[in-house]
Amino acid sequence: MKAIRLILVGPPGCGKGTQAKRIEDKFKIIQLSTGDMLRKAVAEGTPAGVKAKAIMEAGQLVPDDLIISMVGDRIAQPDCQAGFILDGFPRTLAQAQALDRSLKARGLRIDAVIEIRVPDEDLVERITGRFTCAQCGQGYHDRFQKPAREGICDKCGGSQFTRRADDNAETVRTRLKAYHEMTESIIPHYERQDILRVVDGRQGIDQVSEAVSAVVAAL
Ligand code: ADP
Ligand code: AMP
Repeated sequence: MKAIRLILVGPPGCGKGTQAKRIEDKFKIIQLSTGDMLRKAVAEGTPAGVKAKAIMEAGQLVPDDLIISMVGDRIAQPDCQAGFILDGFPRTLAQAQALDRSLKARGLRIDAVIEIRVPDEDLVERITGRFTCAQCGQGYHDRFQKPAREGICDKCGGSQFTRRADDNAETVRTRLKAYHEMTESIIPHYERQDILRVVDGRQGIDQVSEAVSAVVAAL
């Protein structure tokens, strides 16, 4: 199968992580979430994590140079040669341009950028209701995606769940502001390359998956 390189873009809480995991399972393309990478770095207390911690808690973007080198190192790993789904990166035009350059230098390019479009007013509830299985990372929602048996993870049977420190109503507003001021400008960048595909993220999770899968299957 040919290598597929995808970007999922959209505001915080639009469903990037949920859909990336489904594409990963269905098409066997690895998910690279920069948010997850940074949270791991914070938990491990690495130099990048120490730098990023307070910035993430405030809902702001970490510096471009830090994230660009983190992603550059990651996509050079052997397990990314068969393709990848970028979830949460790029988030600035400088990051998008750096990614283009680093792929181009290796004769590669992004195949499609899928924008998951959800209005701001829906996002606060999505984010403040989000929780995750501490054991396997499966994502849930208090209202929209409950485990089949309360308190038990559908995927791994785990019973411990976590909520992100930055998933509170106040930080969400800063994160939305960062999205509109810094990230939205990458969309026309990919539109010009004719690789942008827009999906209506207001639909249910399964409907969004169908739309996203149709884009991937057509590549
Ligand atoms: P992102 O990775 O873009 O920040 P997530 O995939 O973590 O967003 O989704 C945020 C929350 O909204 C999660 O709790 C998830 O279960 C829920 N969610 C995701 N997609 C939908 C959808 N289409 N409708 C309703 N809730 C959704
Ligand atoms: P996420 O898990 O995608 O919601 O990201 C959580 C937080 O990590 C963001 O609010 C930022 O502080 C930081 N972050 C993740 N990806 C990036 C990126 N590409 N550029 C800058 N900051 C990022």
